[in-house]
Amino acid sequence: MNAHPRPRVLLSTGTEARTRGLFREDSLTGRNYSQAVAAAGGLPMMVAVLDPALAGSYVETADALLLTGGVDVDPQRYGAPPSPSLGAVDERRDAFELALYRAFRGAGKPILGVCRGHQLINVAEGGTLHQHVPAVEGAWQHEQRDIRGAPIHEVSLTPGSALAAALGAERVRVNSYHHQAIDRLGQGLTAVAHASDGLIEAVEGRSGAFLLGVQWHPEMAFRDFPEQRAPFDLLVNAARRHAEAGRLLHSPA
Ligand code: MN
Repeated sequence: MNAHPRPRVLLSTGTEARTRGLFREDSLTGRNYSQAVAAAGGLPMMVAVLDPALAGSYVETADALLLTGGVDVDPQRYGAPPSPSLGAVDERRDAFELALYRAFRGAGKPILGVCRGHQLINVAEGGTLHQHVPAVEGAWQHEQRDIRGAPIHEVSLTPGSALAAALGAERVRVNSYHHQAIDRLGQGLTAVAHASDGLIEAVEGRSGAFLLGVQWHPEMAFRDFPEQRAPFDLLVNAARRHAEAGRLLHSPA
């Protein structure tokens, strides 16, 4: 047996109806998420949107969870009516990802959320979202036109946060492909990166296992901007520590 197996990272996906060929729905997310996890030393595994009742079984098969980007979280989840600018929502994806979040959090396993995943973490922790950033007073453009993932704006990092420590900096430039953002912060979270227009760009858990959400897309940038591998390194390293602690606990004396 491999003494240092790669930590297994479960990746959530979106669902898209095919418009040609076989009549079916496809489960998909960017291959770059899997490539970033693999580059950080993890073993990526993608899962379709399924019955939330399966979340408890998935938590036993993986060491960490990566909540990927995608459509808007249904504002019903945080008690708000739909804004005229709300994008597409996926109630089944919300339900499955929230169940995965609670299962992994409950088991003390590390979680990383990217873009929608960052917003979903905030909703899971009782927070709310701005449904349309262009409607927020003073907000910058956060939906950059360039689609290749290069940084477009700066964020200030909170000293002492895991993200700031991993990046070894107080500021980092990030890309920006979001029309929603965190409004009221969830109870269990600390904001650890801000744009200077006031938007929250990253959150960490106040206690318990490693928990990080980033509003930008490091999976699009980590090849050209190596510091952007940091969120994946943090996730995989936390997963390795958790898995090794579990093995020590269960190994025969
Ligand atoms: Mn942004």
